[in-house]
Amino acid sequence: MVEGSGHWDAALFRREGHRMVEWIAEYLDGGNRDHPVLSRVKPGEVSGILPRLMPDTAEDPEIVWQDFLEIILPGVTHWNHPGFMAYFGITGSGPGVLGEMLSAALDVNGMLWRTCPSATELELTVLDWMRRGLELPEDFFGFLTDTASISSLLALAAAREKADPEIRHGGMTGRDIDPFRIYASDQAHSSIAKACLTLGFGLDGFRAVPHDADYRMDPEALAHMVAADRAAGFRPLAVVATVGTTSTTSVDPVATIAELCAAEGLWFHVDAAYAGSAAFCPESRWCLDGCERADSFVFNPHKWLFTPIDASALYTRHPEIFKRAFSLVPEYLTTPVSGQVVDLMDYGVQLGRRFRALKLWWVLRCFGLEGVRERIRRHIAMAHTIADWIEASPDFERLAPTPFSVVCFRARPRGLEGEELDRFNMDLLEHVNASGEIFLSHTRLDDGISLRVAIGNLATVESDVERCRELLTEGLACLSDR
Ligand code: PLP
Repeated sequence: MVEGSGHWDAALFRREGHRMVEWIAEYLDGGNRDHPVLSRVKPGEVSGILPRLMPDTAEDPEIVWQDFLEIILPGVTHWNHPGFMAYFGITGSGPGVLGEMLSAALDVNGMLWRTCPSATELELTVLDWMRRGLELPEDFFGFLTDTASISSLLALAAAREKADPEIRHGGMTGRDIDPFRIYASDQAHSSIAKACLTLGFGLDGFRAVPHDADYRMDPEALAHMVAADRAAGFRPLAVVATVGTTSTTSVDPVATIAELCAAEGLWFHVDAAYAGSAAFCPESRWCLDGCERADSFVFNPHKWLFTPIDASALYTRHPEIFKRAFSLVPEYLTTPVSGQVVDLMDYGVQLGRRFRALKLWWVLRCFGLEGVRERIRRHIAMAHTIADWIEASPDFERLAPTPFSVVCFRARPRGLEGEELDRFNMDLLEHVNASGEIFLSHTRLDDGISLRVAIGNLATVESDVERCRELLTEGLACLSDR
């Protein structure tokens, strides 16, 4: 019989816990550099090693641990790695990791205030701390979801509820309702179109507004599209502005869009999933100018606020509309304080809610506002080092402005254009990524394929940026000699 048989006593938990915490401490303190940042496994390699059946009887935790090291770790792409500069760099910081561990240990379900008063009250409190830190209006009510995709989906569902309360009972089919339209720039994250799919607006209900030369939404085009859609019998419902688009981190002209939404009676949602955190720094607060007029606003602490995935902060000045859209309370979920307290299950689709606020609380207290600002500034400075180098280099060109910590650029070897140039850059990307030291990703911009350097991990230091530069230069030379 294996020690513990699954239900560990305190001694065994302590032994295994210490082993794990020791490993995590090493990992976060540079041990992560011992692993290739981008996993090198082939499709099916991990599952091919894993047994096809779960064990019949309890296994020795020592063996499970060895298997974690030997089977699982090689198949991990290390997001929590200083060389991770793909997509958006993120950090599961020490306080966040331990906060996550505590919330797993407590294992509360904060669906109702009564099922864990601290989960609800801490969530509302830390959301209010962040609201103040971002200088958002006092009447913004905030709560947590898992991801920005879900936050935006809930916001658009609230917009639909406001526009047509009949939908709650009658649904959207079999009734004579004009088709809804949602507007966002063609640079908006795909989660907005996905929300249209999910909410029954259809992909045709998503209207991609063209961008200007700096990848910001063109507000004049937006105004024309809204007017044309109205004239054609569609029903404009909401506009989503992006603060920090996924490809280039451009910032839509929020104040102008807010003005148009007010004039047209449209719900105004702001997606600041990545860049919202920058606004904790007074010098970057400009990016949220106009957001005070939003009906709903999302930013993700799991992107640039050093909080382990997942944690998305959704704010709205109309919590009662979210409640109208989602609240459904069967008898077994009523409590003596129903109606007198905030029951967070009422504001979205999910019933069960984990204690996400705990890790965020840990992060916010252990960093403090100044600590957050200092790290964000350092990331922006490192991105500007790369941007300046690219500007100065005859072999590379920058393809978009760099308002935050992401640089879009490409190599520009003489004589290559169009698809050949795109292919060259994709090969260069693979060259850098094969190093195992740095992981970059790409996007497509007006000029073609763009490589992206995205700084966002707390362990990333100037020498990592320098290494990224070396690998790009080396790769360029190597590929040019082919
Ligand atoms: N919005 C923007 C602007 C993003 O860049 C992203 C992801 O990168 C998302 C939304 C989706 O975020 P999540 O993974 O939290 O759903």
